[in-house]
Amino acid sequence: MKIGIVGLGLIGGSIALDLRQLPGYTLLGVSRRPETCQQAVARGVVDDASTEFALLSAADVVFLCPPLGAIAQTVEALLPHLTPKTVLTDVGSVKQPIVEAIAPLWKNFVGGHPMAGTADSGLDAAQKDLFVNRAYVLTPIDTTPPEAVETVAGIARSLRAHVYQCDPSAHDQAVAWISHLPVMVSSSLIAACLQESDATILELAKTFASSGFRDTSRVGGGNPELGLMMAKYNQQALLRSLQTYRNQLDHTIALIEQADWNALETRLQQTQQTRPSFVD
Ligand code: NAP
Repeated sequence: MKIGIVGLGLIGGSIALDLRQLPGYTLLGVSRRPETCQQAVARGVVDDASTEFALLSAADVVFLCPPLGAIAQTVEALLPHLTPKTVLTDVGSVKQPIVEAIAPLWKNFVGGHPMAGTADSGLDAAQKDLFVNRAYVLTPIDTTPPEAVETVAGIARSLRAHVYQCDPSAHDQAVAWISHLPVMVSSSLIAACLQESDATILELAKTFASSGFRDTSRVGGGNPELGLMMAKYNQQALLRSLQTYRNQLDHTIALIEQADWNALETRLQQTQQTRPSFVD
């Protein structure tokens, strides 16, 4: 099967790296910069690469992996080069606006979102086994051909991801809670620390920062373009989550102001008990 990857960065490069190791896949990459294409071939990420979409004219399946803001223009330039049976899928972190934009243009389009990432970006950040045991969400709609869904699901399973399906809007509301809200909270955490006006204390805090700060600041210290796109394309769901989070923060502040240690302990016990239902 010939697989096209558009956007040889963290996600596109990681998908290519894994598939290229498997029998039966030929990987064709298209990226914006010629040097990225050259590096991708030299490092064995893809079999062939180009800045021209014509390379993908024989592709059976094409993964759209550029930044969210570039997906619409990429599709416009790509579609004239594809044969009608080519299955098109994307990896964008927000699904409803992408599905609404592409589904009317391409029958064999399946919205997708592999739930994996790192704080880094670009081809150098691509890594093997990024998707192993991670959720890979597909968001077909009524008009999506089941065979196209099964084709993408089969590839996602060969990345050893766990495949789920839901509608695009449900996806966006769910990821607002567990992906987009954490980016904004984590970024606000770093910004709050930087508000410390005593330079000595701030330096000490930076020196003492250890695993707890590393865990809680990771997604806020990631690719700014990705966070911006999450906010721009999932604005309403993200605002709803952020407002609920602010209410929770106000509640925590009130408990601490009132020295209501019993209530605070109960709350911390509840969050300790429920965390595994999200991450285990
Ligand atoms: P990334 O590392 O920045 O990779 C995107 C790559 O696309 C860039 O390296 C760039 O390569 C290329 N590119 C940029 N503009 C392009 C264009 N107009 N046409 C073709 N290629 C272009 O970003 P990423 O983190 O992989 O994110 C890519 C997609 O994955 C996004 O839609 C994002 O929502 C989704 N996603 C990200 C994560 C995450 O945690 N990072 C997780 C799941 C899904 P060159 O300029 O070097 O050619």
